[in-house]
Amino acid sequence: MDPVDTTGLAEPFLRTQLESLGLAVEYVRAEGDTLYRRGDDGGELPVLDLVGGFGATILGHHHPEVTALAKELLAAQVPVHAQFSLHPYAEAVARRLNDILHRETGDPGPYRAVFANSGAEAVEAAVKHAELDRGSKAAALRARIDESVARARRAVRDGARLSETARRLAEGGDFEALAAAVGDANRARAEEPPVLLALTGGFHGKLVGSVQLTHNPVVREPFRALATPCRFVPAGDPEALAAVIAEERRTLLGLSVSDLGVSSGTDSGGTDPSVSGGVVDVVEHRLPRLCALVLEPVQGEGGVRPLTAGYLREVQRICAEADCPIVVDEVQSGMGRTGTFLAGSAVGLRGDYYVLAKSLGGGLAKAAVMLVHHSRHRPEFELLHSSTYAKDAFSTLIAARTLDLLEADGGALYRRAAERGERILTRLAGVRDDFKDVVVDVRGRGLMIGLELRDQADSSSPVLRELSRADVLGYAAAGYLLHAHALRVFPTASATTTLRIEPSVRITDAQIDQAETGLRALCELLRAQDGERLLSR
Ligand code: PMP
Repeated sequence: MDPVDTTGLAEPFLRTQLESLGLAVEYVRAEGDTLYRRGDDGGELPVLDLVGGFGATILGHHHPEVTALAKELLAAQVPVHAQFSLHPYAEAVARRLNDILHRETGDPGPYRAVFANSGAEAVEAAVKHAELDRGSKAAALRARIDESVARARRAVRDGARLSETARRLAEGGDFEALAAAVGDANRARAEEPPVLLALTGGFHGKLVGSVQLTHNPVVREPFRALATPCRFVPAGDPEALAAVIAEERRTLLGLSVSDLGVSSGTDSGGTDPSVSGGVVDVVEHRLPRLCALVLEPVQGEGGVRPLTAGYLREVQRICAEADCPIVVDEVQSGMGRTGTFLAGSAVGLRGDYYVLAKSLGGGLAKAAVMLVHHSRHRPEFELLHSSTYAKDAFSTLIAARTLDLLEADGGALYRRAAERGERILTRLAGVRDDFKDVVVDVRGRGLMIGLELRDQADSSSPVLRELSRADVLGYAAAGYLLHAHALRVFPTASATTTLRIEPSVRITDAQIDQAETGLRALCELLRAQDGERLLSR
């Protein structure tokens, strides 16, 4: 037997992948939008970081105030772990978030906050909460129906008779046959799994639950048997959403008794109003089956695709009618990245739930939160859901300071994100116009920008063809930009020909110039179909 290779223990396969794409470098220091790696002479080589921790560094790496606070907290021996005690700082973060949400959405809330460690975890907390709420409402409905059956039984004993519809359902039997038929129909319907909805192109995490909501089949399919699969509806198509919701609509049957012999049910045919004791009829109640619709206002990993205000307005209307809560995943688009605190608020979206993570931790801590509107809040959730590190003092105090920084000077940082983003977008639009043969599109909002490269599956270069077919063209482009232009750029996770540009608000004009220069050189190389140079180091 061959000896087991023990040279690589920490994700060794990933390392070989990085090596083959020229991305196996170690960064030793980070500041602002710069990551430093060691040169051959041992000195530091700066790399302009446009990946920004996949969107986690809206304030840049090691924002001086955030890092200073972290040092203070450690020096003061602030208890990081004191679970099941009071957490006034968590209350402060929740209050701050509520003020911001109120200002941006107009909804006074309040939204109750449940903290977590990562985006995927907070998404799952929101979905779990939505399912608790849905399940409780379904159980309450079944209890009301049981009461209605008991009431009808008493009424029949007192002389009430069955309506035509009720007699049909009882198949000619008596009241107990009717009650059994109602019970059987309801059991089968209530046992159907809940319906979770998400959009094509969406990304919501990679844990067992959240990966079901992440559209990309490559990461989702191997795990689909582990949880209730979600139904994907095409992003941008409100009619498709309405059709899916209509298809998933189910009702439970209940019984009504009308004293006057005039049924309140769906079918009162055949009743005789003169009969005393009333009429027992069958009524339908909408079964709460829709757990939630989960969406990103700007799809990040799907290739940086903003959803339009018109579409989201329709989504909101359809979901309100169907009583389907909307979970707004602002893990990547939130925290001011697109020029407002929430990307959704700029397009009039109001969520029943909000999910924040990434930049909430100021680029330093692992902090995430889900917020649920009080009208749907289930207090018992707080006893059912927890995580050891969630809401710890360190991450929550860092989150509080991060919010302070974002909100300072009347939201100067939001304006800066919009202004920097506009500048980058304009420059990249110029690149697109000059290289229409290799750039499909440049899009985004604020500091959430994507540059989509044309697929090279039919390239005259065998290297480019192969990279494209292996779905790694974007990664190879990243390797080239790193070595030739000291630029760190990555494709979005589910749309790998789209390069993500997500720097911090601190990016300078000179750095934007550097980014443009590198991207233009990349386009030149693709135009020349020069696959070899793309891979040369
Ligand atoms: N939701 C969105 C919109 C995301 O972009 C991401 C991460 N890219 C996640 C959820 C998952 O976050 P995490 O990696 O912190 O679990």
